[in-house]
Amino acid sequence: MVLNLEEIKKMAVIGAGTMGHGIAQAYAQEGYPVSITDNFESARAGVKGRIKANLETLARGGLLRPDDVEPVLDRISVVDSLAEAVRDADFVTEAVIEDVELKQSIFQEMEKYCPPGSILASNTSSFPMTQISALMVKPERAIITHWSNPPYLVPLVEVVPGEKTTAATLDTAYKLLEKVKKVPVRLQKEVIGFIMNRIQTAMNREVYHLLEMGVASAEDIDRAVVTSIGFRLASLGPLLIRDLAGLDVTAKVDEVLLGEIDSSLTVNRRLKDMVSRGDLGTKTGKGFFEYSPESLVEIIRERDRQFIDRVKQDYRSPE
Ligand code: NAD
Repeated sequence: MVLNLEEIKKMAVIGAGTMGHGIAQAYAQEGYPVSITDNFESARAGVKGRIKANLETLARGGLLRPDDVEPVLDRISVVDSLAEAVRDADFVTEAVIEDVELKQSIFQEMEKYCPPGSILASNTSSFPMTQISALMVKPERAIITHWSNPPYLVPLVEVVPGEKTTAATLDTAYKLLEKVKKVPVRLQKEVIGFIMNRIQTAMNREVYHLLEMGVASAEDIDRAVVTSIGFRLASLGPLLIRDLAGLDVTAKVDEVLLGEIDSSLTVNRRLKDMVSRGDLGTKTGKGFFEYSPESLVEIIRERDRQFIDRVKQDYRSPE
């Protein structure tokens, strides 16, 4: 039998990169002790500094009491091995790179070292849990909890059971995410890419297409989305928006546009070229836009300010 919510006392996170450090932070902020590990020494060495910087941003934005920064940090232990991280953990989140064979072997290893009733979650963006847990002895305690970046701010966590995941595992994972003030959404079926990434990929395919056709500049395409679709979507889901617009009008517009918009099944050529040139976005200083170290700091600061305001306004009361 897996643990119920009240029995979950201690967390572990495997992988201390972009997502792992933020997931560890989200649990520690809500009072859970968390062990985190990574197989790269530099990731282990840097994780507390990254979390401290995030917590200070939250404190400046009024989402965390400044006095709570150190206690949250103190709840996080960086350890040298997976075995040490999971040995007394009740709920483990795997957030290593997106490689299915690696994830399969990590789930086997976690199962070997963690207590028998603990729940093992993956933050995979794409693989079904049925595949990740294929080599496990007890796949019934494995589940996907798919967070969005930055995990300590974006509310959604998609919860996706595998074929063998039990209802008890799902129930505990779902309630735990609610308890740490996230918005869990449960998928009824295993589909590659879940809900959010499928919708985002569908939109982006047309975004790249419009850019490629020279219909508008990159700045103007982003501006058009933020001030229309984005403005509405921050408050209303796409299906409610369609109901408000009228389904007759929607069907007519779809009839005209579906034959026009991009339906290609391969990665956009321009995107591929950019990747092969090494233009990878902010991490290399150039993507669809160019960035200096200073402009990047300003973009992240402004993003966090707006996200914090939105979380305070719509999802939780300020500290
Ligand atoms: P990342 O590259 O920033 O971090 C991955 C970390 O895993 C690295 O620090 C790496 O050293 C570590 N690692 C690799 N092999 C390991 C091993 N054997 N044991 C322990 N640690 C190991 O990647 P990320 O963006 O944090 O993504 C992690 C997972 O989360 C992936 O499955 C990804 O698809 C998913 N995800 C990413 C995002 C995102 O926006 N970046 C969003 C949702 C889900």
